Amino acid sequence: MTSSEQRLAAIRGGVAPRRHNARTIAALTGNPGCTRRAVLDGAGVDKPRLAERIGFPARFGQSRFAITRGNAFEAQVKADGGAELLRLVAERLGVEPGDRAEWTDLDGGADLPDRHARSRELLTGAVPTGSDQPAALFDHPLLGLDIAGTRVNLEPDLVAARLAGRFHVVEVKSFPVIDGQADPAKVSAAAIQSAVYVLAMRDLLADAGHDPDLVSHEVVLVCPRDFTNQPVASLVDVRKQLLVLRRQLARTARLDDLLAAVPEDFTADLTADPATLVDALSRVAARYAPECLAACELAYFCRHEARGHTGALGRPVREALGGVATVAEVLALADGERAPEPEQTEAAALLRAAARLRADALGVPA
Ligand code: SF4
Repeated sequence: MTSSEQRLAAIRGGVAPRRHNARTIAALTGNPGCTRRAVLDGAGVDKPRLAERIGFPARFGQSRFAITRGNAFEAQVKADGGAELLRLVAERLGVEPGDRAEWTDLDGGADLPDRHARSRELLTGAVPTGSDQPAALFDHPLLGLDIAGTRVNLEPDLVAARLAGRFHVVEVKSFPVIDGQADPAKVSAAAIQSAVYVLAMRDLLADAGHDPDLVSHEVVLVCPRDFTNQPVASLVDVRKQLLVLRRQLARTARLDDLLAAVPEDFTADLTADPATLVDALSRVAARYAPECLAACELAYFCRHEARGHTGALGRPVREALGGVATVAEVLALADGERAPEPEQTEAAALLRAAARLRADALGVPA
């Protein structure tokens, strides 16, 4: 064990690191500037349990009803050897689907090493060689990625579709597309998760000596249309998400640099008392933003901690009020009660103008 690994094990309190999945890997990109999160995730700390231990439990997850409905929709879309799925994907890609696709379920109930070997063998054996190959659909491929020096298995519910000379990641999602529009936050979460799978499939091909770009950066999301169970496919370009993901994975891999920003006695040992854990967390820099609520289990703790700071109001506010750290300072500058520091001049002028506009609108003295 290296000294970094020993230190990370000590941070976790000697327990095994929490296993990542595509959702937790995708979430790594949610707030790349946050050292607290990078260290906790790099160490594999069980953040949901940590948040609970300090009195700020995370509130993620789908209702049982939503999960059942999502499973039924997925089964419907994949039925009949993926015939409907193939038609939808081919139509969205603007290619001929051919008569019928080969359908392979890579799950097969085998244990992980066997499933991994089978996924590797069949996917690399079916590598796209040209647009005249018949379509092939692979359900439940077992993929892997290196996260902070540890191999993480990904067991996605996705289909890898070989069509028109490339592999495409196809994900069936249960959120609806209404009048041609889906919830942007849900599309963005799906895009980053799909990017995790694209990266893992590219790694698989590259390891076997194939061109990783045979896995397209365009992923296909299949969702219910309007309020029916009618499926509709959309193409999402995940190049930007791939860049962010690579950058964040590289950062998590540089654990020594991360640990240099953390006090020697920092602990996230779940057997420590809550006050000790809160004190330890407060000594590692965080960068709370409202987006954390959808992406990080510590969000309610960090939001509480950031109360009264402009950063907690979101990126647009942080950027507009650069150099003004607290809401109290904002109010004092807007009222003219306090003279701005040189770096606050621009923000102060904006705030005074906003205060005048508000006073005019309300008919009260500025
Ligand atoms: S919730 Fe806290 S630890 Fe998580 S990313 Fe946001 S600021 Fe960082």
